Amino acid sequence: MRKPIIAGNWKMNKTASEAKAFAEAVKNAIPSNDAVDSVIGAPALFLETLVTEAKGTDLKIAAQNSYWENEGAFTGETSPAALADLGVDYVIIGHSERREYFHETDQEINKKAKAIFANNMTPILCCGESLETYEANQTADWIETQITAGLEGLTAEQVSAMVIAYEPIWAIGTGKSADATIADTICGVVRQTVEKLYGKEVSEAVRIQYGGSVKPENIAEYMAKENVDGALVGGASLQADSFLALLDAV
Ligand code: 13P
Repeated sequence: MRKPIIAGNWKMNKTASEAKAFAEAVKNAIPSNDAVDSVIGAPALFLETLVTEAKGTDLKIAAQNSYWENEGAFTGETSPAALADLGVDYVIIGHSERREYFHETDQEINKKAKAIFANNMTPILCCGESLETYEANQTADWIETQITAGLEGLTAEQVSAMVIAYEPIWAIGTGKSADATIADTICGVVRQTVEKLYGKEVSEAVRIQYGGSVKPENIAEYMAKENVDGALVGGASLQADSFLALLDAV
């Protein structure tokens, strides 16, 4: 049985004081991580504040990106070793916004995944297709290609422990969520791809999230599906009451 994982992705929202107020509002209401993993993915600027606020609770903190080298002359980048040292547990990689606006490639994302594991953190690897690909019925091939490239060279043990998020680009921030059956089917494609590469045991262990216009009112429909183990949530993770409602619904 896979443990559900609900992760908020704040994207480039909030200030440090707003992040602190959010953590203060939720920290005593986070459910036990025996039942669900609760994660907030925040801008690097306030990860330290959030890690400090979350100490002694079951709230885990994610970065939204990292570089693949631990140190060096890479102006403006964030070191995975420094994230691990802060107490960050997860790093979101390959979000469609990073692929689109910052031209990240599958190969770079794969290097990031390896660096995150090397620093004892867990990657949340995002994949997802454009509306054009979806309408051309090419989603399955697209996802298989992204996942195969993203996982290249990772061990079975690493893939078993990681999280993969399926986020159709056309459903992100649009209010137009993918129907739960579609989400289940494509999360199933992710799982079949993992099975092809690593075998049944690994594909049964890896946790797969759906993301794209998930909110407290619709999260239960996704969580009821066999291949959906959690959600990666943008807009509905920004308010404390809404984030707690997402966790409550699981
Ligand atoms: P929304 O939940 O705002 O659609 O964003 C989804 C997303 O991109 C999470 O990473």
